[in-house]
Amino acid sequence: HAGVIETDAVIVGAGPVGLFQVFELGLLEIKAHIIDSLAYPGGQCIELYPDKPIYDIPALPVVTGKELTDNLMKQIEPFGATFHLGQEVTTVEKQEDGRFFVATSKGTQFLTKTIFIAGGVGSFQPRTLKVEGIDKYEGSQVHYRVRNPAQFAGKNLVIVGGGDSALDWALNFCGANDDGNPHKAESVILVHRRDGFRAAPASVAKMKELCDAYEMQFIVGQVSDIDEGDDILKGVKVTGGDGVTRVVPADQVLVFFGLSPKLGPIAEWGLALERKQILVDTEKFQTSVPGIFAVGDINTYPGKKKLILSGFHEAALAAFGAMPIINPEKRVHLQYTTTSPKLHKVLGVE
Ligand code: FAD
Repeated sequence: HAGVIETDAVIVGAGPVGLFQVFELGLLEIKAHIIDSLAYPGGQCIELYPDKPIYDIPALPVVTGKELTDNLMKQIEPFGATFHLGQEVTTVEKQEDGRFFVATSKGTQFLTKTIFIAGGVGSFQPRTLKVEGIDKYEGSQVHYRVRNPAQFAGKNLVIVGGGDSALDWALNFCGANDDGNPHKAESVILVHRRDGFRAAPASVAKMKELCDAYEMQFIVGQVSDIDEGDDILKGVKVTGGDGVTRVVPADQVLVFFGLSPKLGPIAEWGLALERKQILVDTEKFQTSVPGIFAVGDINTYPGKKKLILSGFHEAALAAFGAMPIINPEKRVHLQYTTTSPKLHKVLGVE
């Protein structure tokens, strides 16, 4: 097991509930590794409503999704959890010694005594372009995220989408960035189904300016087909509002349709599910597999309400529920953070 991280607890999902799970485990002096397929913590709060106010977090009359996430990050700081972001947990397998083998899409591997699934509505994945035959070019000529901008320098690009990501990358590859842009493309064509954008007005204005200066091109239409050569993508076919389909040549196609959550690999870990939610008990929030707990939006039990508040409570009881597995000899007493010198030490507030 060279390179495998051995640990007491792995948390799948760094949404608000996964983050608070770090805190509750931390009070019991359990260190955790936390994994998220997104490149940043916060789950739905950050991905879906960073600037919207939440009014039902106890003792916080109003807090935005971003503020709640920032506060949780600050609150869990003393516990030094290790974050593994931008990778999806793909594999969970029970080992003979009772531990679990956990692996991610980036090849990070763990052997852990317990798992806390805080996967919310699933892992956020880029929405794909639904055109026949396009899948085989994914990663080579069709991309749903930019990992390495240098790969697109000097290329003829078609960028599909009308949100901030599509606009930002289109401007970037046009050389419209302040930093002198080291990754200027040979050409950039933006394709969006309508002449209206869900992006910052300044970016839209800049894009129109570049189009007027013939530095990039904007086509209204939908990608309806691909244009193929011998095992190579030569371009895409775009059907315009006028019903006419035109071939648009491209070396590389970048698609930014936003992210949508998918339950994904969690469904394959042998856990009892009910309508795509993980069944848990309400004493420990343990799943049908002892040692695997599920908290937050991903779980279900009689009376479940998908609220952040409920997830926080579940995380507390799951942490206590996991103690006998992680540390069977240790007796756990409930202590108050206000008065316990031991907890003060753990929190670093002595
Ligand atoms: P999530 O926030 O969904 O986070 C789960 C994380 O797990 C995600 O980041 C995902 O990428 C990751 N993940 C999943 N599977 C994997 C995997 N296999 N590998 C790696 N990572 C994975 N609730 C309230 O209480 N009050 C409100 O006012 C409120 N307003 C809302 C407004 C909107 C618009 C929306 C959409 C929701 C609102 N909610 C509100 C609901 C609240 O956001 C959710 O209850 C909360 O986010 C659940 O937290 P979570 O940590 O369980 O899951």
